[in-house]
Order: sequence, then C-alpha cells, then structure tokens
Amino acid sequence: MGSQPPDRSDLYRDHVSKHDEVRAGAKFGAWIDGETHTTDDTVAVYDPVIDEQMLTVPDCTATEVDAAVTAAWDAFDRTWESTVPRDRSSLLFEWADTLEDHLEELTLLECLDCGKPISQAQGEIEGAIDTLEYYASVCRAQRGSEAPAATDLHLYMKHEPYGVVGQIVPWNYPLWAAAWKLGPALAAGNACVLKPSSETPLSTIRAAQLSADIFPDGVLNVITGSGSTAGQSLAEHDDVRKVSFTGSTDVGSGVMQAAADRVAPVTLELGGKSPFIVFPDADLDKVVDAVADGIFYSTGEICDALSRALVHESIVDEFTERFVEKAESYVLGDPLDEATTMGPLTSEDQFRTVTDYIETGREEATLLCGGGRPDDPALADGWYVEPTVFGDVSNDMTIAQEEIFGPVQTINTFADYDEAISLANDTKYGLAAGIGTERTSRVHQTADDLDAGLVYVNEYGPILPEAPYGGFKQSGFGKDLGLEALDHYRRTKSVYVNLDDPSL
Ligand code: NAD
Repeated sequence: MGSQPPDRSDLYRDHVSKHDEVRAGAKFGAWIDGETHTTDDTVAVYDPVIDEQMLTVPDCTATEVDAAVTAAWDAFDRTWESTVPRDRSSLLFEWADTLEDHLEELTLLECLDCGKPISQAQGEIEGAIDTLEYYASVCRAQRGSEAPAATDLHLYMKHEPYGVVGQIVPWNYPLWAAAWKLGPALAAGNACVLKPSSETPLSTIRAAQLSADIFPDGVLNVITGSGSTAGQSLAEHDDVRKVSFTGSTDVGSGVMQAAADRVAPVTLELGGKSPFIVFPDADLDKVVDAVADGIFYSTGEICDALSRALVHESIVDEFTERFVEKAESYVLGDPLDEATTMGPLTSEDQFRTVTDYIETGREEATLLCGGGRPDDPALADGWYVEPTVFGDVSNDMTIAQEEIFGPVQTINTFADYDEAISLANDTKYGLAAGIGTERTSRVHQTADDLDAGLVYVNEYGPILPEAPYGGFKQSGFGKDLGLEALDHYRRTKSVYVNLDDPSL
C-alpha cells in the first residue's frame, strides 16, 4: 500500500496515488449511532484494476450488529417514531443534497472499489441521489384510509413503520442498491441497519458519514464485514423486525430461513438469467445496442443482465455478425479514463467464476468472440475479461441456465412465437426480459406472456425510482423502488372505533 515501484505502469501509479487520496480523505469504518466504529479484525478492500489493497474496514461480528440494532431502536424510540412525513422528507432531501455536493468523491470511491467506468459510476451515484429525492417526495404523500362499513363505526386503516429493519446489499452497484433500501425504509419511518458487501463498502460508508448532523444518531447504521458473520447476525437478530436482502438466490434463501425462525417478513431481490427475444421485424440498429448494453454494462455484473439472446432463425446470422462486432468494440481500460467502456470484474473470486463458465461454454457451445483476458500489459494485474459471445447454444446448457454475472452472452434461435416464449420462460429465474420488435401489438402480447418482473422493449433500462423493481420465481419477491417499496417497510393497522354509545 502506498509504495510505487518505478517499473509499474502509469495506470498502476495513478491508482496507487488515488488510494492515497482516498485514505487521506475519510476514515472508513462501520457507522453505528452516528459514529465511526473500528474493530481489531478487518477485511481488506481491493482495487480490482490493479489488484492492490486500498484499505481495510472492520470485520463486524454479532457484537457490532447488536450495538447497531440497539442504537437503531434507541433512536426510533427516542425521536424517530414521533417524526411526521414532512420531517423525514426534509431530512431525506437534505441528505440527497449533501451527497450531490460530494458527487465527485462518491463517484471516485465507486469507480475504484468496483472497477466501474467512471461515467457509469457517476450515473449510479446520481441514480442513488435521485432515488432518495423520489422517496423524499413521495414521503409526504403517505396517508391511510377509511372504510364506510357501518353507520355506528369509524373504521380506519393507518400505516406504521416496523421500527428497526435490516438491509443487506451486494457489490455490483453498491450505493445505488443501498439507496433503493434506505430511501423507502427511512421515508416510512424506520431506523435502519444496512450491511454493504465486504467487496465494495466504501461509497455506502461515506454516504452514511455524510448523513451525520442530518438524521438523529442511530437512525442510519452501516455494518461492514463478511456475509457469513455480519450478514448472518443481522438476518438472525431477534430485534430486527423486517429484512430486505439483495444478492444471490442461495444466500437469499438462507436469509429467508433465518428470518422465518422469528416470523420476520423478508423482501428478496435475487439472481437472474434474463432473455432478450429478437423478433424478425426488430430494428437491429436499436436492438443490437440494447442487447449489448443488457449484458456488457458494468462488465455484465448486473442482476437483470439480458444474458440470453433468443433470436429468430431468419435473422440470426445478421444479428450475430453485428452483435460480435459490437462486443469487440468495447474499450477495456482504466475505469478512471473517460474513453473506457468496460472495466474489470470486481473481484478475483468473480473473475474465477466467470472464467470457469467460459471454459464450460467452450465445451458446450461455439465461442464467437472474446473468452480471454485483454492483451494490454497495463491491464494484466486487473480482473479483466473480454466481452464474450457464444453461438450454437441450446437452452439446457449450463451457460444458458446458470447466472454467470459477467460479460458473457449466449445466442440461441427460435422458429416461432410459442417457441420464443417457451425458451424465454424456461429458467428457474424471472427477474427481467427484453423484447426487440417494431410491432406494438407484439410488445404487449409478449410482455404479458413473459414470466418476469421487468420487461425492457427495444432497449436496456433505464431503471427509475418510479417503477417497482424485482423478480418472479427464484429471482425473489417483494419489490425495491416505486411506491410498492414503501409498503414493504410499513405495517397496516385497522382501527375499529365503535360510535354507538358516545356516553361511555
Ligand atoms: P451474495 O448473495 O453473495 O451477497 C449479497 C450480500 O449478502 C452481501 O452483502 C454479502 O456479504 C451478504 N451475505 C453473504 N452471506 C450471507 C449470509 N449467510 N447471511 C446474510 N448475508 C450474507 O451476492 P453478491 O455476490 O454480493 O451479488 C451478486 C448476486 O446478487 C447475483 O446473484 C445478482 O443477480 C444478485 N443481485 C440481485 C439484484 C436484484 O435486484 N434482483 C440486484 C443486484 C444483485
């Protein structure tokens, strides 16, 4: 850390000097009760571009989780429970404004921590801020209802927060994912304990620090450390009344079991293996870009990656030629360089996972492009993988069924509409799907027939806070974003007020 051997590339030296800048800027620890908290045991945080440790963060255990949950309940009981939506709205706006003032700093952290191209990192931080502003806005529109069920009865329904909620997020878009959880939970009146991934905790820690002097101490807590210890302790904690988890299906299922022991509700946003159906009338000028964005954005480390292109057999040759050309046009390089359009994978583990799948793909199907590491010696230390495309894929292959979470696309063909729908839905997941067609009626029919929680037509994204986000089947249940996410952080109480004898 901090040393700059003279034989290293400019890229290496630039990154090491950025690490120095990050270390000089803030002290990164868990954020509990409005203070930075350290532990003797730590977890290293790496820069995946040069595979160097940037810094360490606390490896929290059940002790720190318990301290955070206690602080959150204290804050809830002391002040937060008696706030009204207008109070919470104005604090959320203030926090969003403060994050906006630190946009450059947060973008740099996200870029270094994840290896995301800087424009993508900035777009995601802006997305996080936009999400908080959305919940600051809709916060004040919350209200209950009344049912005219009987003349001698005033029957009304009100919403209440759970109290303290636990939130666990993955490493692929750290602060954006955190905002999807914190925005609605705080707007609904809960105090939060959030655990970012141990791979990419920096932007979330910093954003929490920037909430000091805005939220009362203890309302927003961040626990760092491993999933198996800190994450598990949070999911299992008796005083956490609701758990919202985003991550893999296997871990999500375990979180659900941990919460089941005390009958705490869960929201699960899990993995995917999403199809993009390219109909024969698709405008390939738009759709090739849409499918490429859907698998190569963020180096394919996207839960709703459109990783299975299902292309009508009459246009598969033209689609494949244009898609491979597009895949080969990505610029792999330093994420800090504006010209870079694809960074490395976020960790060595993920690199091993993706390259293992590529080896499986070589055995199962036909490699059309990519499949290796880039030639540029300056990128040799980073976890880079070329954009990779497989043809001659059938839906029962491993690479067509399992989530790879990397820049690996499969191309499969279909002969008619029914086959397209059947292939698209032939997966245990149901997070997202794409449709490429110029026919409006086909759009609606196909959107109806797809078993997925999100449908993108002729493009990938954008993901906006106005629309609920979440999957079907083993991609989870419950929603992030939209007004629906507020409902996931509120309980509804029905109050029967008997009016028949006012003298009593
Ligand atoms: P992961 O399941 O390994 O980890 C997710 C989070 O859970 C991390 O913070 C991790 O530390 C924590 N964790 C790990 N073990 C735990 C345990 N036993 N108890 C409690 N918490 C634990 O997932 P990941 O590798 O960080 O992220 C990639 C996965 O996330 C992919 O499957 C991707 O599809 C999914 N994802 C889904 C969405 C969505 O909205 N559906 C969004 C982003 C990512």
